Amino acid sequence: MPQAVICGAGWAGMNCARVLQERGFSVQVLEKSDRPGGRITSDFVDGFTIDNGFQVVNPAYAELRETAIMDGLASFKLAKGLEIVETNRIYKVGDPRSDLRFIPDLLSAKFGSTFEKLSFLGYLRRATEDKTFGEALGDFPNLFTNLLKPFLDGVVLTDVSSVSNRVARELIHWFIKGNPVLIDGGVGRVSEALAAGLDIEFNVEVKSVTERTVSTTRGEISADTVVVATDPITASRLLELNMPKMNYSETWYFDIAEGTITSKFLRVGSEGPVVNSIALSNVAPSFAPSGRTLVAATTLQSASEFSVRSHLSKLWSVETQHWRLITKREIPYSLPFKGSKSAMVDELRVAGIWCAGDWRTTPSQQGALLSGKLVANAISSFQY
Ligand SMILES: Cc1cc2nc3c(=O)[nH]c(=O)nc-3n(C[C@H](O)[C@H](O)[C@H](O)COP(=O)(O)OP(=O)(O)OC[C@H]3O[C@@H](n4cnc5c(N)ncnc54)[C@H](O)[C@@H]3O)c2cc1C
Repeated sequence: MPQAVICGAGWAGMNCARVLQERGFSVQVLEKSDRPGGRITSDFVDGFTIDNGFQVVNPAYAELRETAIMDGLASFKLAKGLEIVETNRIYKVGDPRSDLRFIPDLLSAKFGSTFEKLSFLGYLRRATEDKTFGEALGDFPNLFTNLLKPFLDGVVLTDVSSVSNRVARELIHWFIKGNPVLIDGGVGRVSEALAAGLDIEFNVEVKSVTERTVSTTRGEISADTVVVATDPITASRLLELNMPKMNYSETWYFDIAEGTITSKFLRVGSEGPVVNSIALSNVAPSFAPSGRTLVAATTLQSASEFSVRSHLSKLWSVETQHWRLITKREIPYSLPFKGSKSAMVDELRVAGIWCAGDWRTTPSQQGALLSGKLVANAISSFQY
């Protein structure tokens, strides 16, 4: 039986392990931390479910469906739209197929003329051009500036105008196809489900790798094949590649009295550092203890608590200085930045060593799973 060692128990590493195991490999996964999931974990603080940043799961992701793990997990559907706050009013926009109440605001001239909107449908059908998303959407200035950018900045965790058109389009494709959910018990439950049945050794740090050996804090391990599926920064160091540019994000979690906010929508807009905010427990009641509401707010730069509270006050039209800050998840390396000319799938092997992770495909759960599977497929077609 061929033996594989996989470095890193994020979604890429675990999916690679799952597929290799199905193909008859003996697989050992080495993980630096004390739990599976990498960037996709959850904690429980004072009865609140705190995900590692505002994270949703799209059950329509093709690679997630292949794992079938969502079947065993309870989830809460998010609205397939958002609220955009302006000084005098709130626009409610989204996928009209999911909620007809989005139609009146979608028709507003704020989001472009009818011609602009219909042309955008044409853009979605056209072959993807390799430019930045901002360049590709040059013909749809109102739709882009007033709707797509405020929403997508919080998805790609950077200014979406500079992101690869192909990457942004793929994310829009999945949004149109599926309905994102929050996971009962936190997004970390999906990571635990992916880990089930895998041989993962925790609290082991990989220090260096060759084609057939892995040197760790617990000694050296030999195998027929070695896969590096760590985070992008560690992987680039282990493989002696240039470090990819990474985006920064922080998510602030507040505890407020139930009923202060009744909206179940993601909210964007108004002046300030917050890219989006949502009352999570209005969607997933199990995220907060009874009588309380859990609010998340994400920023794309390090922001002062004062500026976050001030922005949230305008966004939700309520006083926020007495909101209790539960915790803040600061993620310096949240997502790999993918600009134009980025390959949709990078080489699977670097100097003889297999490499998986979202930075090799698209920065998403789908991208991480796909990358792991592609590497596993390539390895299993080798002769050992
Ligand atoms: C705030 C935030 C929100 C997000 N929201 C969404 C979303 O809503 N939808 C979506 O599709 N995607 C989202 N993503 C993206 C998604 O989480 C990532 O694309 C995905 O988790 C990447 O998985 P990975 O396996 O490639 O890497 P990682 O998750 O980084 O896994 C790498 C693993 O390697 C381990 N490791 C590192 N160094 C070593 C070492 N030396 N030895 C052993 N192990 C090591 C790490 O501990 C980690 O477990 C979000 C990400 C963030 C940060």
